[in-house]
Amino acid sequence: MPSVVFYGTGRNAVENLARWKSNGYEPLCFCDADIKKHNTQFMGYDVVSLCDVLRYYPDYELYLTAHPNNLEAITVDLLKFGISKDRVRFLDSEYKYGCDVLGRFVCVDHDGVSPCCNVKHRKAMPFGEPRITHSTVRDAITNFKARLLDTLNTAHAGITNDCSECPRYRFGIFPRNPKIDSINAGSGWKNTVCNFKCSYCAYNSIDSVLNTDLDCHDIHTILSESVGDTIKKVYISNGEITVLPHSEKVLTFVESKNWEAHIATNGLLYSQSIARLLKSGSVINVSLDAGERMSFHQIKNIDGFDRVIATLMKYSAVRSNCIILKYIMLPGLNDDLKNIDGFLKIAEQLNVLRVELSNNAWETEKIKNIPEQSFAMAAYFAARCKELNIPAIYLDSFFSPTDCQRMACLF
Ligand code: SF4
Repeated sequence: MPSVVFYGTGRNAVENLARWKSNGYEPLCFCDADIKKHNTQFMGYDVVSLCDVLRYYPDYELYLTAHPNNLEAITVDLLKFGISKDRVRFLDSEYKYGCDVLGRFVCVDHDGVSPCCNVKHRKAMPFGEPRITHSTVRDAITNFKARLLDTLNTAHAGITNDCSECPRYRFGIFPRNPKIDSINAGSGWKNTVCNFKCSYCAYNSIDSVLNTDLDCHDIHTILSESVGDTIKKVYISNGEITVLPHSEKVLTFVESKNWEAHIATNGLLYSQSIARLLKSGSVINVSLDAGERMSFHQIKNIDGFDRVIATLMKYSAVRSNCIILKYIMLPGLNDDLKNIDGFLKIAEQLNVLRVELSNNAWETEKIKNIPEQSFAMAAYFAARCKELNIPAIYLDSFFSPTDCQRMACLF
């Protein structure tokens, strides 16, 4: 019998240890990369260093306990340390084809029900009728779930499927039996309104306003009934939440479900309900896209820069790391030093969870690769984030494959 050692003493281990044990996995001890944890106790087990594992348990098997999204990075670190691949085990994941969201996400959007927000590559299950009602959405979700199962089975077998053409589809470490834990109501439902007029907004490009009486609250309710208790997270991105007539209904429902919310807001108006959700672990996602007032005005068509910053300061006082600040690179409008420096200074002051660099999602088909000036500024953006210690990512769904390859060297 090999010596079973669990690697990682984070939240995922706390939440799942009892289940793993009831499935027959009993560790001898825990191991952790953090030296501060060595020679301490974790949930009744000794925590030891990797060197001690090698020394005292030569027949070890390391079972990684981290969240599925972090398993690949940890595996790479362990292999670099000299651990052989066959000693690294996963409790709920395995090597197969997939992507970070496949099987764990559902988006009910203007084009139907989809496994992701990747508008360029996803294959949506259409609603089937021009008039979208409760039953058309419910039926489309049922059909989507059957197709998703087929995609997951074919991914496991390495057979061509709905996702095969997507650049995010790859061989990697993914959950063995993924459950849908995140939902999104997409865009265009009834009463979708906004108090900004951003130059890049989806509503400038989508032939939208759906033939329906359903608002995003109805979609959340249907999803809750159709998907069930596995939902942990909701992405709220239907118009500007603070001015929706049904805003309170949406936020109260999310709060009552105990879901973690990722709320897209432009930050102009402060909301007590959003602040309450932030306090209990939710986050807001704000596309600021500028570092100074004039550019902000030009991009958003509203002179609201100072007011947005004041609102975000109030939110950041509720809880640190509750803001994701996004920068959509817009050639000629914000691909310059002044805006990027200003933006990153604000990100520092807000103590953000992270910054995200994006291309204009709705222009990606037309632009292909971003201009060299924008790419040079993306390189500057990434380098400054490293210097300032601001966590930063680029949104790979919205850049061309070539740009993604180049970006991967920067971030
Ligand atoms: S592989 Fe691409 S299309 Fe398929 S779920 Fe992932 S992001 Fe969406």
